[in-house]
Amino acid sequence: MNTQKILIAGPCAAESQKQLYKTAKALFEFNTVHANHFDFQYFRCGIWKARTNPGDFQGVGDTAFEWLKEIKEQFGFKICVEVASKEHASLCIRNNTDAIWVGARTTVNPFIVQEIADAVQHSSLTVLVKNPVNPDINLWAGAIRRFQNAGIKSVMAVHRGFSVENENVYRNAPCWEIPVALKMKLPDIPVLCDIAHIAGNVSLQQNVAQTAVNYGFDGLMAEVHYAPEKALSDSKQQLLPSQFAHLLENITLPDAGNLAERELFIQRNLIKNIDIQISKLLSKRMEVVDEIATIKAKHALPVLQPNQWKKVVEIYEENMLKDENYRQFLEEFLLLLHKSSLKRQE
Ligand code: PEP
Ligand code: MN
Repeated sequence: MNTQKILIAGPCAAESQKQLYKTAKALFEFNTVHANHFDFQYFRCGIWKARTNPGDFQGVGDTAFEWLKEIKEQFGFKICVEVASKEHASLCIRNNTDAIWVGARTTVNPFIVQEIADAVQHSSLTVLVKNPVNPDINLWAGAIRRFQNAGIKSVMAVHRGFSVENENVYRNAPCWEIPVALKMKLPDIPVLCDIAHIAGNVSLQQNVAQTAVNYGFDGLMAEVHYAPEKALSDSKQQLLPSQFAHLLENITLPDAGNLAERELFIQRNLIKNIDIQISKLLSKRMEVVDEIATIKAKHALPVLQPNQWKKVVEIYEENMLKDENYRQFLEEFLLLLHKSSLKRQE
């Protein structure tokens, strides 16, 4: 069993020849040290940047291809660049880029993804597909299939987190159950974790990387800059080369022999996520019940309204697993839910 993890690292954006060179040199020096556990496959950088605000640094464009050729010659790194259009993809092929990645804001658009897939079809490029910004596994899997259908032999998925409501720890919510489900759905596609865009800062990345490894991810993508404080984009989440080396040293790789523990770990964490959601939803439901109580009291309506309760039961029955044990559980659970709701209202 190959336990080596794929590594992709480099700055968020190519900014200058000097910045790329200094960053690549530092990565090269540490890479020789860590060759045992990690397989450094690509030096990454954005040359066209999809920025939220029009005034922000938009990338240097195709000027960077010359700088990247130098990195390839000097350090032997293969190069990975983000594309957001068929024109970008064609330019990457013309400039001998080894891999491209489709960014989160591009994966959401099947028209553009298909145009990129058509532009690179039957090429030897490796294509990495980041998850769409919204937590939609089918949109992600669909984009991956478009590249497989275009004859791309090496396609990988990159988990970079999702934009969801009420996320206040991470820049992009990990929603680990989605990449784990993608791995089950597409077992031949390596899944990497982009620790920078999930964390949004330096301090959370060790933990995000360890969680990804524990979940059985096939590798990591990181943003590394020789001087993050000077970076023109994503400066808070770019690691110094030494911080990246330290992060890798501190990752505990799972014991390949203990498969049962690994499989249980994954499922237990999925359950934990579901329980968190159920507990939050139940609290929310109680709050709405309190609102309903206020309305009923104001209009002197009876607390118990049997027809309304019948409608609630129907919702649960519609989504019910076809299994006797579960039916019994649901009956008891709904009874309890109804009782506590009435008690609150009284
Ligand atoms: C990036 O990797 O620099 C980037 C812009 O990523 P994402 O598409 O995940 O936002
Ligand atoms: Mn970035």
